[in-house]
Order: sequence, then structure tokens, then C-alpha cells
Amino acid sequence: MNEPLTVTLWGVRGSIPAPGEQTVRYGGNTPCVSVEWGDERCLVLDAGTGIRALGGRLLGESAEIHVILSHSHWDHIQGFPFFAPIYDRDRVVRMYPSPVDKGTLCSLIEQMDGAHFPIRAEELMGINECILTDPIDHMAQNGIRLSQIALNHPGGACGYRVDDSGRRIVYMSDNELSPPSEPTTQWDQFVAFCLGADVLIHDAQYLPEDMPRKHGWGHSVVDQVLRLAAEAEVKRLVLFHHDPERTDDQLDAIEAQAQDWCRENAPATECCVGAEGMTFTL
Ligand SMILES: [Zn+2]
Ligand SMILES: [Zn+2]
Repeated sequence: MNEPLTVTLWGVRGSIPAPGEQTVRYGGNTPCVSVEWGDERCLVLDAGTGIRALGGRLLGESAEIHVILSHSHWDHIQGFPFFAPIYDRDRVVRMYPSPVDKGTLCSLIEQMDGAHFPIRAEELMGINECILTDPIDHMAQNGIRLSQIALNHPGGACGYRVDDSGRRIVYMSDNELSPPSEPTTQWDQFVAFCLGADVLIHDAQYLPEDMPRKHGWGHSVVDQVLRLAAEAEVKRLVLFHHDPERTDDQLDAIEAQAQDWCRENAPATECCVGAEGMTFTL
């Protein structure tokens, strides 16, 4: 019997935290998703403000923690200084630099420079490890089978896939499936990367009416994401990286329309709008 794999959404909002009465149900925290192998290992995908609540929960546990980034835009790193396990001397927290930042050691700790945050990185070094070798190799040595794919996003970003005993989880935040210029990665490559995924968490920040104004901003339109999930025969699609202006009621409507579309066009695919606290166990 395989160890259960648990995927949890801790922050689903794109660009900037968006707390308030209009976002209370889906949540206002910026991106953070955990994948956990029982109580042994915890892979943290992005360190937006959602990571704070995850850190609080992990404090009482012993899992080894690996934090990896899609890229270093603020909404993906800003929660890290409030991730409690990095202050725990008995804890192993491994950080991986963003794969697309040239000349940056590790944006997670570089933001802790005394000017942007009062506690400096040096005060953490020695209890946390910044891994500068190939993250894919390093993860493999730690029992995590990870693959990566370049995303279409200004400045670059990376998507990740976890494969474990026939189970497949794909995380692609900050990706424009149909950018106005030559894409870094083509549609067919995305389909191949997501093929048969049990869970696909994908950027779906925009609606057709946001275009053409936001074409080229590096985020996808919901309809394109649905088509990707259908073509890749994804079992469960989670719409992610919601626009900070999108209200709960608007997200309800997006979910209802997306589910109608799937019933008609991709009956094997279940679709939902990601909300903070949502958990999937495989
Ligand atoms: Zn983002
Ligand atoms: Zn971004």
C-alpha cells in the first residue's frame, strides 16, 4: 500500500494578497501549495503569504521540508519570512533557488536583508539549507520524483510535476498558454507534461473580457486552461492564481461555467476553483 499523497492549497490568489469580505470564501493569500508524503516529507510549491499557515501546522510535526519556487515575483516569495519552521533549530528546511533567476542566490533568503525584513538571512543560515545544485537531482535523492517545464511568463517561470507510484500532480502557476509573442513552451509540450494528471493546478487568472488588455501579462484565460485539461485527460483540474479583483461570487460563477463545459466536452475531467484549505488525497 502506497503512502498517501496529500495536496493542500494554502494560497490561491495571484499578484497581491486580497483580503476582505468579497474574498473570504476562496481566500486572499498568495500562492502556496503543499504536497505531503504522510508525515515524512513536505514539498512546498511557492512561498506566497499562504505559507504562513502551513508553517504553523508543520511546527508540531517532523516532516523534512523542501521549498521550491516557480519564480521570484513578489507574490511567490513574500510569505517566506513568516514561515515558522525556518526559525526552528531542530528543523531541516531545504530551499531551492528559482530556476529562472540569473545571478540570484536564493530570492527567499535574499529578501531577508535587514532592509526589507528585520531578521537577516545570516541569522538563519546553518539551520536551513539553500541547495545550489540541480533541484531535480537533489529532490530525487530525497525520494521526490520531480520534473520541470518552462512556462510562458514575463521574466520566466517554471512548472513542476510530481510522479509517485502512478500518481501524478502538476503545478503550473503564472503561465500564459497563448502568449502574443513566440512562446517559450508550445501547447503540445504542455499537453504532454500534464498527460493523465490526477491533479492539475493551473493559472486561470483571466476571463475573455480581460483580453486583449492583459494579453502578454503572463496568465491564462479560463477557457484555454479547460481545453488543456481536456486534451491532457486530466482527472481533476484546479483553477488557480485568481485575479485579486475577482470576488467570491464571480469565482462561483466561473466554477459553474467551467463545470458545465467539462460535463459537455470532457466528462472524465472534474473541475473546481481552488480555495484556501482545499485538500486532495491520492
Ligand atoms: Zn504570480
Ligand atoms: Zn509572476
